[in-house]
Amino acid sequence: MKQSRLIGRTLREVPKDAQTAAHALMLRAGFIQQLSAGVYIYLPLLHRTLHKISQIIREEMNAAGGVELLMPALQPRELWEETKRWERYTAVDGIMFAFKDRRGATACLGPTHEEVITDILRREIKSYKDLPRCAYQIQTKFRDEIRPRFGLMRAREFIMKDAYSFDADEAGLDASYEAMRQAYHRICQRLGFQYRAVEADSGAIGGSGSQEFMVLADTGEDTILFCDQCDYAANQEKAQSKLAEFPQDAELQPMQAVLGEGLIGVDKLAKFLNIPVWKTTKTMLYEADDQLVAVMVRGDCGVNEVKVTNHLGCKALRLINAEKIKELTGAEVGYAGPIGLPPSVRLIADHYVKGRVNFECGANQTNYHNINVNFGRDLPEPEFGDFKLAKDGHGCPRCAGRLKAARGIEVGHIFKLGTKYSEAMNCSYVDTEGKPHPVIMGCYGIGVSRMAAACVEQSHDDKGIVWQPQVAPFHLHLVALNLEDAVVAQQAEQIYQRLQQEGLDVLFDDRPLRAGEKFGDADLIGLPVRLTISKRTLEQGKVEFKLRREPKAEVITLDEAVAKTRSVCGLAGR
Ligand code: ATP
Ligand code: MG
Repeated sequence: MKQSRLIGRTLREVPKDAQTAAHALMLRAGFIQQLSAGVYIYLPLLHRTLHKISQIIREEMNAAGGVELLMPALQPRELWEETKRWERYTAVDGIMFAFKDRRGATACLGPTHEEVITDILRREIKSYKDLPRCAYQIQTKFRDEIRPRFGLMRAREFIMKDAYSFDADEAGLDASYEAMRQAYHRICQRLGFQYRAVEADSGAIGGSGSQEFMVLADTGEDTILFCDQCDYAANQEKAQSKLAEFPQDAELQPMQAVLGEGLIGVDKLAKFLNIPVWKTTKTMLYEADDQLVAVMVRGDCGVNEVKVTNHLGCKALRLINAEKIKELTGAEVGYAGPIGLPPSVRLIADHYVKGRVNFECGANQTNYHNINVNFGRDLPEPEFGDFKLAKDGHGCPRCAGRLKAARGIEVGHIFKLGTKYSEAMNCSYVDTEGKPHPVIMGCYGIGVSRMAAACVEQSHDDKGIVWQPQVAPFHLHLVALNLEDAVVAQQAEQIYQRLQQEGLDVLFDDRPLRAGEKFGDADLIGLPVRLTISKRTLEQGKVEFKLRREPKAEVITLDEAVAKTRSVCGLAGR
């Protein structure tokens, strides 16, 4: 492609609203433009990269037994009523774009496609002989995200690859899931990602298995934890951990309320009370749908709200506000405790709250803290469960190792769905005896446009993007200088033709600009190879060859440059 024909200007200024390198560079290098909040134009350079990423995904999906189709983005409300998800996606989460059409029917722009694919397959599948099946598509999805940000990372319109598997039994689902898991690893490897596959939360439903593929990046929105000794790795929402436990007092001390004014933070509190931090307790008050819940965790831990939500099986979990806290506890924020709460409050506590003798907790009286509290004597034992937030430095749940934290970008998510959708929508098959069973499903998503942003986030320098050859919009940037000279212009055109005949994707900078500007743009756009031709190189019968990822250039023949470029880009020799 001739750069004079390209759409998407490069920008010298760093856009103000861009908080991540990928967002800033994609705007500056002319890959994206914003149309409205969280809605982006995919300019020609990005479009080519998306095509290459999609192609890699497609090859791996096909190899794993997937068949490609394309479902409508426009979906009727009725299907979502069958699975009872309409209410949740519109009124509760508000993530769905929904509207009435001119006939008065309600429709939405698909945020995901479980309903549509299940509708298709329930007509397709009759007996066990029709299974397994796996279908996928690469398509635009719409989600009215509360906080669209970081450009393509969290957009309101984005490209997703979504696949769905259909099996007769659990063993079949396991095999489908495993094939997808391996395909996801191959895709991440082919894209050159530094990444980790981590255990993920599968919510109150499903539950039998879920993994996320996380590209490691400091700007990632997710926190992952992984063991420094074994292969345990999980999203923080899902992660379990072991805490150090301490020898307990031999005797119960009398419970006492101690005045301690304005002690914010457990460290200060523990110091003031002259007790170890692990004896302190945090009691957090929540509204779980229409129920009130108090959650106790050890003072040195936070509450994992996803675990609490799953335990309660509620739709929405919200911390209650200061006013309501006062109404319930009679105290200002910061002094809530389990003793003396109204009976309407359900009390649950993390396992590590349990074995302690003489512990501390808020006294439900402003500025007061109870010390030497003991279950059984001062309050009944609550419901125990795993409710704490695992974090860096905690013990691995599987071995004697320590957990380390890192930030990640979720580029893919694989999920065993079970029969949630097939039961709700009556997608079933009959077995060899003619007995009907619901089909067992899995779903497997990849954020295609998010992956492009993740590539840039992981591979750039202070001059611009450094594309990996397999996803770069073009293999090489042909930068021609001295084009005002008719002989140079003609030779440049010939070289451009020749490079294309050699099977290379070429971006030909044929613009009448100064060398400095052209090189600046070439670094910003970041194609793997830059070939510069000028009056001087052409007189020597040579070209200047430079890799984007290396500082040095060399002057070599065109034939050598072709061979090197093909090799760098992983194309077979000719
Ligand atoms: P997230 O937790 O990031 O909101 P999700 O768990 O809701 O994502 P899925 O429904 O699992 O996402 O979608 C599959 C994939 O689509 C995700 O792994 C992610 O890569 C991508 N994706 C999801 N939401 C967005 C978005 N708003 N913009 C870009 N990509 C997205
Ligand atoms: Mg997800």
